[in-house]
Amino acid sequence: MSDGRERTVRLERLARKGFNVSIRVVDEEGWKKLTAVDSTIPRSFSQLRHLCQSIFGVRRRRPLVETPFHRLLRRRRRGLTVFSTLRGIISRRFEECGESLYSSFFAGLGNPWLTDTQRAMIEADIDDAIPEFENTLETDHFILRWTNSSSNPNDNIADSSIVEETAGHLETAWEKYETTFGRTPYVPSGATKIEVLFRDLMDILAVASPPDGPIQFDARQWVDEPGIRQPTSAHELFHKLQYAFGYRTVHTPSGTHYKWFSEGTASWAEVFVWRRVSREYKLRDLFNSPDLNLYSASYRALPFWIFFYTRQKDTASDNPMHAFLKKYELLGDEKGAMAKTIDEDWPPNSVYGELDTFFALFARDRVIGAWRTTPPGEPPYEPILGPDGNNIVPELMITEVPLGAGDGYTHSAYVSQLGTDYYRFNFEGDTDGKLLTVSIAGIPGGDYSYYFVWEKNGVFKQAFFPFMATKDYGFSETINLGMANSLTVCISGRGTGGPYTINAGVEG
Ligand SMILES: [Zn+2]
Repeated sequence: MSDGRERTVRLERLARKGFNVSIRVVDEEGWKKLTAVDSTIPRSFSQLRHLCQSIFGVRRRRPLVETPFHRLLRRRRRGLTVFSTLRGIISRRFEECGESLYSSFFAGLGNPWLTDTQRAMIEADIDDAIPEFENTLETDHFILRWTNSSSNPNDNIADSSIVEETAGHLETAWEKYETTFGRTPYVPSGATKIEVLFRDLMDILAVASPPDGPIQFDARQWVDEPGIRQPTSAHELFHKLQYAFGYRTVHTPSGTHYKWFSEGTASWAEVFVWRRVSREYKLRDLFNSPDLNLYSASYRALPFWIFFYTRQKDTASDNPMHAFLKKYELLGDEKGAMAKTIDEDWPPNSVYGELDTFFALFARDRVIGAWRTTPPGEPPYEPILGPDGNNIVPELMITEVPLGAGDGYTHSAYVSQLGTDYYRFNFEGDTDGKLLTVSIAGIPGGDYSYYFVWEKNGVFKQAFFPFMATKDYGFSETINLGMANSLTVCISGRGTGGPYTINAGVEG
């Protein structure tokens, strides 16, 4: 049982610079629970200090003994990789938003076993790494701070209109969230506005965590790449809206596969507010690599969230994302919340009122281009622009298979849980009136959905969905080239997915 001795510690030394952040120091029982649920939280002072140095950098202080890690840190060059941790062990991987990384770090500062001196040393490290912010701009809901006099040129912004522009984007996103979600983004406890800092975040683009801290933008990328200012400000503010629905403030995400929710929906917010994304891969990758497990997709889950939102939007004022966040707030479980939101949105007898079959519909709509179409009366979510302002047109990876009379095709592969493999059989002129046979054999215990899409010269004609078939499946049909000259087979993994063999043949 928790003895309720949780306390909040304000980092006063940082507050003097205008970097206001509070740490929740949990009790011993709470700490045990927290670290059991989230394996990325550093558990010791040395792990915490390493993580601190990797995300804030080390400017004036040098470690007494230079380890290979410190050498790496000293030599690091700018690139697309950042450090992340598993129990304080550093690994390199791509990450544009520091939401989970900073969250792990600040959760680690809430370790009840840390002494005040150790916490002060960490704070001093951060203090050394961040500049003084001599400029302030206050708007209705934000206090923005920046510098143009840091000894680190990557902290500096000379043109204050960049900050003014960003303030406008943040206020636009705030108003849209408040109007459509009936709730404002989370404001740090004890504050009346959200603080926004511009500084050198090293390789990270932006950060919104911890909930009781500022939004931070990387000053250099903010200056160099104007096209990210709209989407990234909406993205980070959406993390603050997630906090208002209990994410991290009430519920600790468990495991390492929750970013399809946290980063996926924050990426969706970029499209929701601006129809623009900070990086194209977020929109493209679920088409380039359609067999990616949705739960592992992180930022790249974006097309699914657009589909989720547009497909379930019943009226102009309906907001399925709001329904989802309310469920999440209630359950504290993103997967359960998704399943329940879908279940409640569809009529009781609909086959699509279940996540696995709903996902099969997404598989089909990626083929026919309907994955971002809202109900009649509203324009589809098109175009969606990249940071350079270009319209992004995702291309679906399909295995193209020509079939003539007497031809056969067989292929074995593996489909992921909530991932999809696509095959398109293109019928040659001599197949008209011939019998086509298609069969898919999975393994015992495997779990699949099948969707079949007939097209004529690439134009959708009709589709069928044997929704009761989740194991082996097959059918025969006479080819009518006047009606359709290709058949796309979508094989999606349900609860597990698994290996399968697909066979197709046309009689000779
Ligand atoms: Zn994010």
